[in-house]
Amino acid sequence: MNDILPEIAGTWRYLESEVQDIVSSYGYNEIRLPILEYTELFKRSIGEVTDIVEKEMYTFLDRNDESLTLRPEATASVVRAGLTNGLLHNQKQKLWTAGPMFRYEKPQKGRYRQFHQFDVEALGYEGPDVDAELIIMSARMWKRLGIDKIRLEINSLGVAESRASYREALVEYFTGVKNQLDEDSIRRLAQNPLRILDSKNPDMQDIVAAAPVMLDYLDEESAAHFAGLRSLLDAAGIDYEINPRLVRGLDYYSRTVFEWITDALGSQGAVCSGGRYDGLVEKLGGRSTPAVGWAMGIERFVALFEACGGKAPPSPPDVYIAALGDGTVARGFALAEELRDRVSGIRVDTNLGGGSFKAQMKRADKSGAAYALILGEQELSEGRIGCKPLRTSEEQESIALENLATVLHDKLSG
Ligand code: ATP
Ligand code: MG
Repeated sequence: MNDILPEIAGTWRYLESEVQDIVSSYGYNEIRLPILEYTELFKRSIGEVTDIVEKEMYTFLDRNDESLTLRPEATASVVRAGLTNGLLHNQKQKLWTAGPMFRYEKPQKGRYRQFHQFDVEALGYEGPDVDAELIIMSARMWKRLGIDKIRLEINSLGVAESRASYREALVEYFTGVKNQLDEDSIRRLAQNPLRILDSKNPDMQDIVAAAPVMLDYLDEESAAHFAGLRSLLDAAGIDYEINPRLVRGLDYYSRTVFEWITDALGSQGAVCSGGRYDGLVEKLGGRSTPAVGWAMGIERFVALFEACGGKAPPSPPDVYIAALGDGTVARGFALAEELRDRVSGIRVDTNLGGGSFKAQMKRADKSGAAYALILGEQELSEGRIGCKPLRTSEEQESIALENLATVLHDKLSG
């Protein structure tokens, strides 16, 4: 679990606000959710026989002996909130949410125990148009932020019925190579053979690579859905690769699954992952409701943005007010307030803790401000203030206090 330090928090805030801007431009509305839910919610939605539920959840009993879990992901909570608040009753919803998620994983670069996701969910839409829109929306983020080291993989997992015949084929195949399976996979063979496909064990990769693929078992409607998605992506000029091995690590997915992957961050390459979960709302007690969404890992997003040469625009103060001598500190404060009132968006840093002229000018320079405003006893008695440009070689000038706001407004907007 990491502290997000000031030197990087500005980049986080910049990226979060860009992404919020983009998803609202597609009509998605924010929903804020608790970070705790009943453990049962995650067991039922993500699936008992998954890495997350078997090994990764932070689960504890509260004072009333109820089993609670720190959320490992957001989709289950969004659906739960939709149901408990009646948001899914004869309505469609396009929602986004963001915040910390918790998984007890082996910490390493790009994989943390508290990490953050930005999450979008469209509930009540059958697609494939909405599947395409969600992908087009994520492509816009990469483009807007200059992220190019990223590629898209898509697949279809069909529906429960077609997956049943695929499941049989998998059981037959994996039973034939049972002596080469690891312990987890042998257990999963009986319980949830699909999960063997997302085994992270390198020794299992060859066996997994030779397994039957879901695309050969797709039902007609799922095949048409997948073709529909592909033609919309083609029309939008979005490149993708069909990866028939992409299954995703959660049980609730059906039909479309996709992942934006980068090679720029080492082995933790999944930056933004999503898919359709048409059965989940019903499974959690609602009426059958089609739904689809994606989640982006913010830590990986920030790292990829930087790996592609991205930098958040700096936000230094515009002016630094230095105050020297009797009465100048109080006057400096009043002036700073006046500037904040009158010059829209201005950032004013006020010298704190006194100090010599030299010390204050050093701090002014270090703050990154464009101008130092120098208020001394002499200036004060004349109703004027010194204005020294710190980033250019222009001369210091003296400005009448009553004109200061107007002059600064012009300087800063020019
Ligand atoms: P991975 O295959 O890397 O384990 P995942 O399939 O478990 O990812 P999801 O559950 O789909 O990931 O979560 C969506 C996104 O959240 C991922 O694409 C990734 O960017 C991010 N993510 C998942 N787990 C972590 C983690 N432990 N630390 C940081 N980011 C994570
Ligand atoms: Mg994982």
